[in-house]
Amino acid sequence: STDHQTPPHATTAPTPAPSPANNAPASAPIAGAQLPVPSILGLDALFNNPVFAGGIGLAGLGAAAAFGRRAAIRGAELLRRQLLVNIEISKRDPSYSWVLAWLAQPRNDSGFLASRLTRIRNLAVTTSTRSINPAKPAGDEGAAARIQADFRVQPGYGRHIIRHRPGVYIGVSREKASTTTTATGEPHETLTLTLLWAHRHVLSDIFTEAHAMASRFHEGKTVVYTAKRMEWTALGKPRLKRPLGSVILDEGVKEGLVADVRDFLGARQWYTDRGVPYRRGYLLYGPPGTGKTSFIQALAGELEYSVAMINLSEVGVTDDLLAHLLTQQPEKSILVLEDVDAALVNRKQRESDGYSGKTVTFSGLLNALDGLAAGEDRIAFLTTNHVDRLDPALIRPGRVDMMVRIGEATRYQAAEMWDRYYGDIDADKSGCERFIKRLGELGLFGDSEVPEVPKRHTSTAAIQGLFQFNKNDMEGAINMAEGLIPRTFEA
Ligand code: ADP
Repeated sequence: STDHQTPPHATTAPTPAPSPANNAPASAPIAGAQLPVPSILGLDALFNNPVFAGGIGLAGLGAAAAFGRRAAIRGAELLRRQLLVNIEISKRDPSYSWVLAWLAQPRNDSGFLASRLTRIRNLAVTTSTRSINPAKPAGDEGAAARIQADFRVQPGYGRHIIRHRPGVYIGVSREKASTTTTATGEPHETLTLTLLWAHRHVLSDIFTEAHAMASRFHEGKTVVYTAKRMEWTALGKPRLKRPLGSVILDEGVKEGLVADVRDFLGARQWYTDRGVPYRRGYLLYGPPGTGKTSFIQALAGELEYSVAMINLSEVGVTDDLLAHLLTQQPEKSILVLEDVDAALVNRKQRESDGYSGKTVTFSGLLNALDGLAAGEDRIAFLTTNHVDRLDPALIRPGRVDMMVRIGEATRYQAAEMWDRYYGDIDADKSGCERFIKRLGELGLFGDSEVPEVPKRHTSTAAIQGLFQFNKNDMEGAINMAEGLIPRTFEA
């Protein structure tokens, strides 16, 4: 509104030194035609006002700062996008735990303080314990085993920066999702590694190293997976491989099974050429405590496989769950379906046996073995204590190819087990002979010819228990052999 009027302070504005050249236009009669000039002069005056100019200056500074900040954010974003690499690892991915373990790995023997995590203030610890049995003096079997605890330090939740090697820094962000949960009911997690684009090659080193670490950790060990809700989870920590030699089955049984599995593993092409699904099923049956589970575990160790185990008599293991689990079966694992008879008993019998709730049906089991749900590439072991309940439909190629009874202890097994425990202190095998004779007298090999001694059996698990109790003491084992007689619970 003041544009066309000379503002009052214009008059107070210092006038330039009178000079004809300066004065002439201002006093010219055509001044009205040059309206912009006084207007500019007016603005000039405005800017000359210290308060106004100060305000404008501040506003300008503010705008510049805001612009600068936005530019900085944008720039940082651009830099991040252009110069940084982000890699997000989901908890569902196997590499998640490998990379976490890699991050926790100490650089030298002085423990986690020397680890990559020295710059991280927010750490999480996972503790695992194991008991060590110190060499005990004879007769001191009751001494408590010492428990050793191992602590592994991992980056906690939040953001961290670690130094990978001189000049190479890695941003680590471990986040727990508040809403989504995994099928096991735990919150979902992600781990994000951020690196300079120029250092991106380091990523493949990290993954290779982390994977190598994980395999070294599993070397000589067997991982056993079980079904936890809807997912396979490792049951405890990987166990030391059980040597096949430590499982003693009746003469030739173990060798026959192992040879068959090896043949199968070498025959992939044969199956492919004939369009036959590459599957083989084994059914191990017999009373409990005869080494069925131990054998499967030792076999997996021998073949460097893991074990994926589902107990079909467990409540909640339904047809749908079984089918779902089979689609997710861990790689290179032997599928073990325990207590398959649970799927075969009809509902009425199931109730009278105390199976309640939902369990797998027979058709669910068949579908798991060779239906749509079945894996293309699979070794399955089925176990049962009640072979009499099985349906002949189960014994078909691709479902069950080989049926083996793993029975009560035989003379052969008892002698082999004796040898494993006392072989070094029983050089002339006289102890072994006496032990076997004693078991025979007790009728424990099922062939008693004396009327007053009933024909009965004992299990390899019971013999193991006896030897375990009498470590290094063969006389003790012979004297306590009576304890192998199965107890009958009569009212
Ligand atoms: P199953 O699966 O037949 O019920 P397990 O394999 O679980 O039997 O055996 C139970 C325990 O007994 C294990 O500790 C195992 O070491 C021992 N055991 C049983 N049978 C044998 C065997 N034949 N050879 C070696 N150990 C055995």
